Amino acid sequence: MNDLTQCVLTPKISTEGFDPLGVGVHRASTIVFKDAVAYASRGDRGHEGYSYGLYGTPTTRTLEAKLTKLEGGAWTFLTPSGQAANALAVLSFLTAGDHILIADTAYPPMRDFAETDLKRLGIGVEFFDPQSLNDVAAKINQNTKIVWCESPGSTTMEIVDLPNIAALAHERGVLVGVDNTWATPLNFKPLEHGADIVTEALTKFVSGHSDVLMGSITIKDTALLKPIRSLIGRMGIGVSPDDASLVLRGFETLGVRLRHSEKVALDFAGKIEGHPVVDQVLHPALRTFPGHTLWKRDFLGSSGVFSVVFKQEAAAHVAAALDTLEVFAIGASWGGTRSLAAPMSIDGFRTATSWDGPDVILRLSIGLEDEKELWADIERFLDTVVAQTIAASSGRQTKAASNG
Ligand SMILES: *Cc1c(COP(=O)(O)O)cnc(C)c1O
Repeated sequence: MNDLTQCVLTPKISTEGFDPLGVGVHRASTIVFKDAVAYASRGDRGHEGYSYGLYGTPTTRTLEAKLTKLEGGAWTFLTPSGQAANALAVLSFLTAGDHILIADTAYPPMRDFAETDLKRLGIGVEFFDPQSLNDVAAKINQNTKIVWCESPGSTTMEIVDLPNIAALAHERGVLVGVDNTWATPLNFKPLEHGADIVTEALTKFVSGHSDVLMGSITIKDTALLKPIRSLIGRMGIGVSPDDASLVLRGFETLGVRLRHSEKVALDFAGKIEGHPVVDQVLHPALRTFPGHTLWKRDFLGSSGVFSVVFKQEAAAHVAAALDTLEVFAIGASWGGTRSLAAPMSIDGFRTATSWDGPDVILRLSIGLEDEKELWADIERFLDTVVAQTIAASSGRQTKAASNG
């Protein structure tokens, strides 16, 4: 064979005896066929076969298989982000004239997708109170195709009564989807509690190192396979095997990372709860949390993320006090090794419920740093909030006195 040709061809190397613990990174757009007949009938290879890199490689299939097993589903699709998983999971089943019900506390970009794009496509969009079965029952109509849940809700952490929402929905032939990013498939299995579809932002705890974006859609029944597979194929959506390999690497330590983060987070949540500038700590595993009983009934554990609501007079000082943090980083996303603090606003993200607390809620994600150093950081931050709150209030009093 000519040298130039040999440069191009990949020699066949035996894999006999090569048994690594992980899967290799299989990069491919083209997949070759043994003859013209095999090529012509490539469509018959179905969702499990290989026909083109976009539709799967051994690397992506390995990640899909791991998720399918842990979620207790029939099949998993990978998407380039968690938000893509949410958007594609619902878009696959909706047509003009249909109606979707979305939990009021769903991830804000999901709300935005529904209000901007689903509405533009002629799909009715309505939000429901995640703590009210009656609200779900009242809002399901004959055009409803999907009830979309996220449990706990973004930032305010409301837990939905999934088995009962699913019963209501299924009586009317309506699908139920759940964004399960907070709990991960280790601590909640929505498909076992009535959901038909579960999505994960693998970006967070599953990949676990804040260096890759990916999402997953797992279905309970193969009847749901075709609408999703064909839509993501037509839209040209797939993930890179390099990214899938990073997620697989992180996945191996998910169990110990999550166990550590949930333990430290719950300890901190309990300690922060009684602090004088704190009004409420939103963490489903706290006995004082409104959704605690549902959480205890359905979940296998909690997570490393929770929220802190400050008293009205202290809330204005939270953002500035974050600058005193030394170990925590300030940033969005969560579930990585580094602990994160993010001041969240929920103004404009609630329509079916109302929020009368201050419009800054502090979201904390607990990573893997030394707990004592993390706690010292939180104490320093809380001390700063106290000092600034007192300074502002005595400033007001001085001003009032001099005005009087
Ligand atoms: C972060 C997040 C997403 C989106 O994940 P990306 O990969 O960042 O798009 C979706 N749902 C929830 C609950 C999230 O926290």
